[in-house]
This record gives sequence, structure tokens and C-alpha cells, in this order.
Amino acid sequence: MDLENAMRAEKALFPDLFNRLPVVLERGQDVHVWDADGKKYLDMFAGVAVSSIGHAHPRMVKTISAQAAKMIHASNWVFTESQLTLAKKLADLSGMEKVFFTNDGAGAVETAIKLARKATGRTGIVSMEGAFHGRTMGALSATWSKKYREPFEPLIPGFSFARYDDISSVEAAVGEDTAAIIVEPILGEAGAIVPHGSFLKDVEKIAHDAGALLIVDEIQTGFGRCGQMFAYKGQGISPDIVTCAKGLGGGFPLGAVLFSGCDFDPGQHGGTYNGGPLACEVALTVLSVIEDEGLVANSKKMGDYIKEGLSSHSVHGAGLMLGVDTDDGRGNALKLMKRGIIPIYSGNILRLLPPLTLKKEHADIVIGNISEVL
Ligand SMILES: *Cc1c(COP(=O)(O)O)cnc(C)c1O
Repeated sequence: MDLENAMRAEKALFPDLFNRLPVVLERGQDVHVWDADGKKYLDMFAGVAVSSIGHAHPRMVKTISAQAAKMIHASNWVFTESQLTLAKKLADLSGMEKVFFTNDGAGAVETAIKLARKATGRTGIVSMEGAFHGRTMGALSATWSKKYREPFEPLIPGFSFARYDDISSVEAAVGEDTAAIIVEPILGEAGAIVPHGSFLKDVEKIAHDAGALLIVDEIQTGFGRCGQMFAYKGQGISPDIVTCAKGLGGGFPLGAVLFSGCDFDPGQHGGTYNGGPLACEVALTVLSVIEDEGLVANSKKMGDYIKEGLSSHSVHGAGLMLGVDTDDGRGNALKLMKRGIIPIYSGNILRLLPPLTLKKEHADIVIGNISEVL
């Protein structure tokens, strides 16, 4: 299907929600994608930080076909070894006690909010200005952008916002009825905004001093994206709840909530598709590819290399979650697409979120082209 037909069909069939990039993607291989005319692009957004091990990884293809031939769905009426093995793996990787699987990021945030309210008997959730946590009613209540929220108000009561990276603002927002503070270790949708050194540690202290929980949203930052398995690791904090999705499934829809010291009672939460055997086998493969191919270290190395190469520009973020300040996000993204590179953008920030398999030769192409375009 060519672009003009796709645009016409979109207008006829879909609500006008996505200001899509002008390309019809047909297939991918590792860090490259091809459009319907056979034009090759370097994929610098990975379907929004999702295709963590690249496209059509042979081990992923093998897992999906083998598991599809065995069993795609089982439900939570029964046990599956796939689900238990993945849960154990995630608990070991994170040091958290328990795991609840969801189908996406918003579902993980919904779960975290319910869990925090249940565990504390309080209703307040303090989120951050600039935060993005998803678009279902609970997750949306914790999302900052007025454009996303206002048409759907009233949202869930009890949500408030503090300024990101401003600890006195967080302190002022927390009170006796605060069930949890929810925070991204690095703001994702806002354009890879990194807080100052002790921010997360200070947020944790404020939460715990107030008897509230700390929810760390690792949906975008997790699984090597920021050069560590989890971006909060190394900050000296122990979150009560960690939300995961995006990179965990490498393109297959899957989320997870990891938690310690809090729990649900029977029947209080669930979902028909949650933690299906195919999804879990895919995630196990993603995690072992990340380990076997050293993708966490590669993310840090390539991220530092791109930052260094673009040091005459304002570049922020960590690992392969980078934001480049420009004067026109979409305009510059379109210019890069003409040159065979697909980034995304938030306002005027170009966002670089490639597969974690990115190599130096690809990074050089990105650095060269961005330097010429900006
Ligand atoms: C993408 C994202 C979400 C929402 O995930 P969906 O799978 O789109 O629902 C939540 N939090 C963060 C930090 C995200 O980047």
C-alpha cells in the first residue's frame, strides 16, 4: 500500500488521533526497517522504545513459532511454566518479591495505583509535571499533559502533581492521604529529561517518611534502555512498586508490575490475557538476548558515543534514550526521514530510541546526519 492510499484510508476509517510520520512500514531486520516502496531506514525510534532487540531477531522468530505451535493462551485459571519462569526471572533481576503481568504499560500503571491504594488505605497519588503514565482513566489521572486529560475530566479523585526534579515541590504535594508517589527515573515522553543526582533518593525518603509507597515507572526506561537493566538501579533506592512494559516484550504486548511489601487479596485484580504463555516465552527470549548480546552495556556505550558525537548540541538522556533540543521537532524528524533515518519527537525535542543492538557504524550515520540537519 502506498502512502497516499494509506493516508486516505486512515481519514476514512480511524479517529483523527495520530499525527503519523509519512511512511508505510512493511518489514524490519535488526536496526533497519523498509517501507512499502522498498526504501530502507535506520530505525531510531523502535516503535517508541519497544523493539529492544531489533526487528525479526532469529531467536524471537523461533520462540514465537515454536510457542504458537504449542500453546498461545492458557489464562490464569491454570498454571503455566512460562509464566512462572518469567516471574522468577523478573524477581531475580529486580530484587522485587512479586510479579503481576499485564498486556501493556497503562495496565501496569493501573495495577500499581490499585495496589498502592489497597496497601495504604489512602487515596492520594502524587505524580510529576511532565509525566506520562498512559491513557486509561487511572494512568491518565497521573499523566501531566492537559491536552490528554482535560476532555475526559473528572478523572480519578486524589491525584496531584509536583514539579519534576524539584524536591520542595514534591514535599509540599505529599500529605497524610498520600498512598504513593509515582515517578519516572528519566522523563520519557517529555523528551528524555534526567533529574539531578539525588532526586529519586529524596523522593523515596519523602514517600516513606509519609507512610506512602514509591512507584517507579520503568515502562520506557527499563530493560537496558538507559544503559542499566533498570534506570532506578544505582540510585540507592528501593521502590515498593516498579511498572514495566515496552522493551520487555520487544514488540510483543506485555507489561509487568513488580512489587514488595504490598499485595492484593484474592479476586481484587486480574485480566483474561495477562501473562499468557506466548507473551512470557517472548519476554524470556528478549531478556536472554539482552544478556547474551550484552545489550545493556551496548546501550550505555552507544548512548555515550552519540552524546559525544553531538556534543555541540544540547543532548540529554541516558543510554539509548536520548533527546536532542532543536527548533522544530517534527520538521527535523521529517528531514532525517528523507535521509533514511526515523526518529520521533516531543515538541521541539528529537527523541532517539533505537533498538539496543545499534552499532557504532549506525551511530556514526545518525551523528553525521543530525549534525548536517540541525
Ligand atoms: C509508554 C509509557 C506508558 C504507557 O504504556 P502503554 O503501553 O502505551 O499503555 C506509561 N509510562 C511510561 C513512562 C511510558 O513511557
